[in-house]
Amino acid sequence: MKLSIIGTGYVGLVTGTCFAEVGHHVFCVDNDAAKVKMLQGGGIPIYEPGLEEIVKKNVAAGRLKFTSSTAEGVQESDVIFIAVPTPPQPDGSVDLSYIERVARDIAAAMTSYKIVVDKSTVPVKTGEKVAETIKRYCAAKVEFDVVSNPEFLREGFAVGDLMHPDRVVIGVRSQRPVAAMKEIYTPFQAPIIVTDINSAELIKHAANSFLALKISYINALANICEAAGANVQEVAHGIGLDERIGRRFLNAGIGFGGSCFPKDLSAFIKISEQVGYDFKLLREVQRINADQMERFVKKITDTLWVLKDKKIGVLGLAFKQNTDDVRSSPAIDLCQKLLKDGATLRVHDPKAMAKARPLLPEKGVTYLNDMHAVAEGCDALVVATEWDEFKQLDLARAKKGLTHPILFDGRNLFDPAEMEKLGWIYKSVGR
Ligand code: NAD
Repeated sequence: MKLSIIGTGYVGLVTGTCFAEVGHHVFCVDNDAAKVKMLQGGGIPIYEPGLEEIVKKNVAAGRLKFTSSTAEGVQESDVIFIAVPTPPQPDGSVDLSYIERVARDIAAAMTSYKIVVDKSTVPVKTGEKVAETIKRYCAAKVEFDVVSNPEFLREGFAVGDLMHPDRVVIGVRSQRPVAAMKEIYTPFQAPIIVTDINSAELIKHAANSFLALKISYINALANICEAAGANVQEVAHGIGLDERIGRRFLNAGIGFGGSCFPKDLSAFIKISEQVGYDFKLLREVQRINADQMERFVKKITDTLWVLKDKKIGVLGLAFKQNTDDVRSSPAIDLCQKLLKDGATLRVHDPKAMAKARPLLPEKGVTYLNDMHAVAEGCDALVVATEWDEFKQLDLARAKKGLTHPILFDGRNLFDPAEMEKLGWIYKSVGR
């Protein structure tokens, strides 16, 4: 099929590429001219495992193209996906101005029947507004359908998630666009749920809020484990083997972050408020998450006492492993807190250092390409992101580099008994 994706970011680029990979012809559109130029020149603006190869392959096959013209994308395709940002506003509600802008641009370029699919995460009833907007701004007065098709990919695993989704949700107002949507997704061999638009939009916020809830639940349990002398990983294993609960998203740590969970949670609280329900449970999820970071910082200050003039090595800046995304990263938040208290930092991240630089002050932060160099001359080491390679840290070498063998592990990567045997002062979460 001939498709276009408006917004070529983490979602748009991976979605467009995977659509091309299964044989569709895709135009990826972005209004960031520099990004489009980079993509047209063979560059990839984000780090996502496995993405570069399939972008190159599909560009070479002539199935994947990039443009900064929405009109070109719209005219060249039957189905148009919207994958632009839906950032939070100061009160937690969603800024829908990007969606509205794109709806108007699509409307202006439409000269024949189109299916307009919202893939961005949006509040319930946004589909209605998109349909009203397109109708109002479409001078050619052609027919169209609006569809909600929320995206569930995880950064760091996005290609695999797109190629093998757990499910595909399609929200429609009429049956007309269903066959085309099914044709797009049939090659992915996933269960397809066809529902109404409002339900489809709610599914996305409900799913992300539930996952955030799971993380806050295990973090709250971690605090009980610490106080009671239990091990949260043992508890997570014990409850996670129950199929009704599941082991995933039960890793205690310094809390969730990233471009989705915090904003989607705030949005869902706001959406609930707007329809007359006070979703206090989700406010508590937010509170536990913020508290989790404070508790971790307190662990550091309880041990190091005064942070002024202390040198701290930080492993990890991305919001989670396998990505260069630092948007609302707990690791960045932690760095900022340590810097505010007067510490200087030596930091390393396998992929996210370039994107972290603009978020941290220039003074007081040294970026190192080698994770082993981080410990040199530091008073303590902190693990802030769960990159697998950090588990391979040469602990003897790190210990030699530090002035004192202190490790604060915000992601529970090491074994407490082992660390104690090796002579470390080791503080992790919930163990
Ligand atoms: P992003 O910031 O990485 O990408 C958005 C892109 O849209 C940018 O490249 C931007 O330049 C472009 N853009 C903005 N306005 C435009 C316009 N008028 N015309 C053309 N292009 C425009 O964002 P993202 O992470 O891909 O997220 C997009 C949406 O998908 C959001 O609603 C987000 O909540 C949702 N989502 C994100 C993820 C994720 O893991 N990142 C997962 C599922 C859903």
